[in-house]
This record gives sequence, structure tokens and C-alpha cells, in this order.
Amino acid sequence: MAGQRLKDKVALITGAASGIGKESALLFASEGARVAVVDLNEAAGHEVVGTIRARGGEAIFVPADVANPEDAERMVTETEAAFGKLDVLFNNAGVMLSGDGDAVGTPLDVFEKTLAINVRGVFLGCKYGIPALRRAGGGSVINTASFVATLGAATPQIAYTASKGAVLSMTRELAVIHARENIRVNALSPGPLRTELLMKFLDTEEKRQRRLVHIPMGRFGEAKEMARAALFLASDESSYMTGAELRVDGGITAAYVTPE
Ligand code: NAD
Repeated sequence: MAGQRLKDKVALITGAASGIGKESALLFASEGARVAVVDLNEAAGHEVVGTIRARGGEAIFVPADVANPEDAERMVTETEAAFGKLDVLFNNAGVMLSGDGDAVGTPLDVFEKTLAINVRGVFLGCKYGIPALRRAGGGSVINTASFVATLGAATPQIAYTASKGAVLSMTRELAVIHARENIRVNALSPGPLRTELLMKFLDTEEKRQRRLVHIPMGRFGEAKEMARAALFLASDESSYMTGAELRVDGGITAAYVTPE
């Protein structure tokens, strides 16, 4: 049953053609939001918009590379042009590149590309999105971090880990700086999910089991479970929450030894 938890809100979601972003776009729209679906992947992005419209919701697709300043500015101006304002900025696009490993083995270009998308992308989203939130009288920013911002991973991804630490610390500072402008900024830290991003690395049963050992719940999370947490952060239900990290991780960051 569709609700109205985001009635009259306009949300911009990056990386909305797949995984967490896609499920959030569908859920936010079903809760009354008008949604700007932003992604590099045009075909899949249009498909998400098509699904939202078929269900009676409102959405536009904006093709953009979040690491590119012109694109980041345009995703915001196109959202305001289409829907008149911006209330929710969900900086969710992120990559985990092959070649990302330990410090010794990771090529410099892999490190820099990861930071360009995962860190500069969030910075640019805020650089152009926060003035729009101000124009709307305030709003909610959600940045997708990760459990690896808190824990060292047994399978190293040094660039990815560094990028998510930066997302988390930027989130805190943004929250402090913009709190009196009625702009809340929170991080969503997913645990390991059964999405394309992770499964292309954990491509054997052995690798999957190696990771599952660390998750108290004994299973991977679903993108839909992240979307529900993002909905809470996007909506006024989280009105006294800012600078926080919402960990939705099957208990992985709470565990030292997991149950048999
Ligand atoms: P996904 O690969 O399913 O979706 C990511 C989307 O981002 C894709 O549609 C992709 O086209 C888009 N994208 C990539 N680079 C982009 C760019 N430069 N500009 C615009 N769009 C771009 O991944 P997901 O699992 O839904 O990941 C979403 C976020 O969640 C990422 O920030 C990721 O780091 C984070 N995360 C994922 C997991 C996991 O286990 N899957 C765990 C923790 C955090």
C-alpha cells in the first residue's frame, strides 16, 4: 500500500538506475515524492522512470556523471526546473572498482577514480544541491557511506574504504555547518548487500561464505532494506536527526565473534 510519507517533497537520487538508488526512487515515489533519477546509465535510468510513471508517480531522468561539476550542477537545475524545488538530496552513486586491493597492489588511477566518484561526487552534489535546499527553506541530505568506513575489511579495497571514510566525515561537518539552515545531513551505512556492486566481487560461493561468516544475521542485505532506511532519513520522521550514521548492516559492525 502506497503511503504519503514524502507528500509534496522533491527528491534527487544519484545512482538511481540500480541497487539502492533504484529501490529508493521507487519507494520515495510510492510515498508521494516527485523524483529526479540521476545516473550514468541512461537505459536503466529511463526504465526506473518508466516504472514510476506506470505506477502513477512523477519522475524525470537526468543523465549525469556525479564526478563532473557541470553534470552535478545540471542535475540540480533540471530537478528544480521540472519540479520547482529540491527537498531531498540523496548522494548515493558510488563505485567499487576492480583493481582496488591493498595499498601495494592498487594502481594510482583506480585510487583516484574511486575518490573522484565516491568523494568528489558527494562534495559536488552538496556544492550545487545545498543552495537549492536553501531555496526550498531546508531539507534532508543523505550520503551513502558503508560499514567499511568503520571496520577494516578482511578483503582489502583501500580506495573504496578511504572514500567511504571521507563520506562519513564530510557528512558530520556538513551537518554542523548547515544545521541552522534547516538542512539535515545524515549518512546511510549499508552492510554487505546482494547487489551488483558487491556480487561481482564475491563471485564464488567460497568468497560469499568468507564474507557471511562476519555477518551475525548470516545473510546479505537487500537494496530494498536500504531504501526503507533512506525513506526514514528523507522524511520529516527523522526531524531531530543530523550528523548521524544510520548503520543498516545485519549486525556486522556490532560483531566481534558471530554466532555459529
Ligand atoms: P549499484 O552498482 O547497484 O548501483 C550504483 C549506481 O550508480 C549504478 O546505476 C551506476 O550506473 C551509478 N553510477 C556509478 N558511477 C556513477 C557516476 N559517476 N555518476 C552517476 N551515476 C553513477 O550499487 P549499490 O549497491 O546500489 O550502491 C549504491 C551505494 O551504496 C554506493 O555508494 C555504494 O558504495 C554503497 N554501498 C553498497 C554496498 C553493497 O554491498 N552493495 C555496501 C555498502 C555501501
